[in-house]
Amino acid sequence: MKERYPRLEINLAHLKHNVARVVERCGSYGIQVAGVIKGATGDVEVARQFAEGGAAFIASSRLEQIEDARNAGIDKKMMLIRIPMLSEVKDVIRLTDISLNSELEVIKALNEEARNQGKLHKVILMADMGDLREGWWDKDELVDVAEYIENKMINIQLVGIGTNVGCYGSILPTVEKLEELVELAERIEARLGRELEYISGGATSSLLRVWDGNIPKRINLLRVGEGILLARDMDVFYHYDISDLCQDNFRLKAEVIEVKDKPSHPVGEVGVDAFGHTPVYADRGIRKRALLAMGKVDYGDPAELLPLEKGIEILGASSDHTIVDVEDAEKDYKVGDIMEFDINYATLIYLTNCRNVHIAYV
Ligand SMILES: *Cc1c(COP(=O)(O)O)cnc(C)c1O
Repeated sequence: MKERYPRLEINLAHLKHNVARVVERCGSYGIQVAGVIKGATGDVEVARQFAEGGAAFIASSRLEQIEDARNAGIDKKMMLIRIPMLSEVKDVIRLTDISLNSELEVIKALNEEARNQGKLHKVILMADMGDLREGWWDKDELVDVAEYIENKMINIQLVGIGTNVGCYGSILPTVEKLEELVELAERIEARLGRELEYISGGATSSLLRVWDGNIPKRINLLRVGEGILLARDMDVFYHYDISDLCQDNFRLKAEVIEVKDKPSHPVGEVGVDAFGHTPVYADRGIRKRALLAMGKVDYGDPAELLPLEKGIEILGASSDHTIVDVEDAEKDYKVGDIMEFDINYATLIYLTNCRNVHIAYV
């Protein structure tokens, strides 16, 4: 059978290499890695690389992905990293070993359900250190909740605290921020009279502290997705040397369905495009353009696509078409040719969520 397009090729060996390298570097600071699979929509072969590469947990924001990993026989502790919905508490207990939490009401429901299912469920309490997504802002309240769980709940085990940065508020995991988290953990430990098992100091952006070698000693768990899957952010945004990680784990391939010389400015009276917008079109005269059989439905935003070949410019897209200027391309594109792209995190999420995109493992 002919290969089908659009096609997302996943290099499993390279992916596993990244898992192992990040696990090793974190391990040298006594840090465990939760492998976050949501960036690839929980693709089970991707999840398997996280498991085989040495991640301590398989983590996702979505229970469906965790269930798929379990059904695929992946034998790791499963972690839910989005605050549970009250409506999914039953499945949280059924499918996961540990969850991140920020509402006492939810933890009470988890306790109740864990008792029904005869289980002990672990929780990490999230502290908001300034990024303003999930977590307790009022740290006194967080300490009180920790004490309440410790003394009042039988089927919930408080195993640690954690934070998330760099998601909504673009806050960096500086040494000071992470030390603040450790201080908070120590306040809780003083109240409980025991040590917490985990202090979870963030996601990929916290790897910057591992690479710098200045991550506070007691941080011992990171939840890493992007830094393993694509390993782009640390390089592109922060210019860190990540030459020991592979950056070609995912490749997008699309098929050319039309090649023609056309004007660069639309001809006729201008209204709105397929999405109700009125873009500005530059007039550069007649240009050679290729039409690709993939569109916003497949990848989200065409501006995020990264053509692998020089001289290719993405002009725009509608739901199922992408329009590319190939006037200056090195290759002489013809109908049926395949164009290749590197991708970023947002694109990866769309591609792996789209049933029109054919995933191939290489
Ligand atoms: C998505 C997510 C992560 C992983 O983020 P990356 O930047 O991909 O490493 C970690 N923790 C939480 C709570 C998340 O939602």
